[in-house]
Amino acid sequence: MTMKQTDAARPVPAGGTVIPAVRAVGVHKAFGSLHVLKGVDMTVMPGSVTVILGPSGSGKSTFLRLINQLETLTGGRIEVNGEMIGYRYVERRGRRMLQTLDDRAVAAQREKLGMVFQRFNLFPHMTALENVMEAPVHVQGMRRAEARQLAIAELERVGLGGRLDHYPAQLSGGQQQRVAIARALAMKPSIMLFDEPTSALDPELVGEVLGVMRSLADEGMTMIVVTHEIGFAREVADQVVFMDGGVVVEQGGPEIIAHPSAPRFREFLAHVL
Ligand code: ADP
Ligand code: MG
Repeated sequence: MTMKQTDAARPVPAGGTVIPAVRAVGVHKAFGSLHVLKGVDMTVMPGSVTVILGPSGSGKSTFLRLINQLETLTGGRIEVNGEMIGYRYVERRGRRMLQTLDDRAVAAQREKLGMVFQRFNLFPHMTALENVMEAPVHVQGMRRAEARQLAIAELERVGLGGRLDHYPAQLSGGQQQRVAIARALAMKPSIMLFDEPTSALDPELVGEVLGVMRSLADEGMTMIVVTHEIGFAREVADQVVFMDGGVVVEQGGPEIIAHPSAPRFREFLAHVL
């Protein structure tokens, strides 16, 4: 039997159980006295799409930022591809203790994650191609010629093969966001995190970005997407998670959008639909 590349790339332990791409257990986050996340559990399987819904201020961005180690946990733990992030266990005087990882180890863990924000944050003085080449060259030390080929391929993947030498100001918001997606993909992440990637776009530009995300999902990319685009959630998500007040109020398959059981989720849907 031959194994497909995608299957081979997935971490399967001896027992045959698939290791979650992301597993959050009892995650808490406080900013000073503001308790933002109050025990969030979430499991994201490799190759699946999780859409997180929830009102503004419910802690969605904070949760994504914790996964990507842009914030540190107040409590609980997060595993990415089976590896605890931010910490490792060490034996000290016969006791198992947690030690924070050094910057290098954190950077290595963060390379597995690609993140796309509401604001595209492209370098304005660089072309689309140069924006996508930047991290492979300066973070990974890739040769320019190789990075150039990679960047062209990633820009073609998001439908921008004809815009390589355009500067951000010469691109529409939707095109800029697609460059931002290509830039994240160029680091070959195993998981992509999207934080309201279409919220800053004019309505007519939303579809092209959602289309790129949908094709990524079809290619088998593991994705966690915070969005208010209910149609995308319904059609693309394998798992829908509704957060409110720093907790997961309801989660399930995309069918929970049509049949919400929690009153707060029902109210939220009534507002956004
Ligand atoms: P969402 O993305 O669901 O709108 P956020 O995760 O951005 O929610 O924010 C949740 C709460 O945490 C909000 O009250 C927000 O003001 C607060 N918050 C987020 N980041 C910080 C921070 N760095 N310092 C203090 N408060 C923060
Ligand atoms: Mg947010």
